[in-house]
Amino acid sequence: MSLVSIEDDESIFSFIYRLYLLNGVKKFDHLVNLKGFFIFPARVEFGTEYLFKKVNESQILQALEDSNRIINQGFDVNTFNHPFGLIEELKDFYHLSEKQDIVFGRLVSRERYSVVIKVCLDCIADSLKTNGFGYHKLEWLFEKKCHKHKKPLIIINEGTRMRTVKQLKLALAGKYGSDEDSNGQKIDHLFYTRNLASKKKAAELS
Ligand SMILES: [Zn+2]
Repeated sequence: MSLVSIEDDESIFSFIYRLYLLNGVKKFDHLVNLKGFFIFPARVEFGTEYLFKKVNESQILQALEDSNRIINQGFDVNTFNHPFGLIEELKDFYHLSEKQDIVFGRLVSRERYSVVIKVCLDCIADSLKTNGFGYHKLEWLFEKKCHKHKKPLIIINEGTRMRTVKQLKLALAGKYGSDEDSNGQKIDHLFYTRNLASKKKAAELS
């Protein structure tokens, strides 16, 4: 199994998505809602917990914390403000709070929010060049513009979960708007993880 690590400025949604694409998981029910928005706070899909065992837990916590902090900037801070602390955030991520609620006979489900999926195609192109894969940046969860490229971010929303997930996949592979991947098959999985060969090449060129 490929080892995947979270980039410093990567959103938790992006990391889950890349990990799933790499491992052939095709379910995104807890990541993207039926209308094509990220579901916040992020959670894993049932039955995929084992994939995260190979990931440094402090990286997951950091990515959760960062994504929460960034998204909080767009709302009244009191709405979130980590009511449960980091351990509870991690339990929520793995759906463990829900199981606990059932054990204790409580039916407290946490409120979820829709977050618009936005990307900067230039940042993705840069990452494809230097890392060999594209990823979704943390700051795109909240910002409307890419600070690096001084351009408005592109909103990825195709109206449904399936179409949006597919368009996000194309965007991260540097093929946004392309329809050549009608079966979702052609895009090389190496686009979603660190490609050492291309990194070496980039280092040689610089
Ligand atoms: Zn950019």
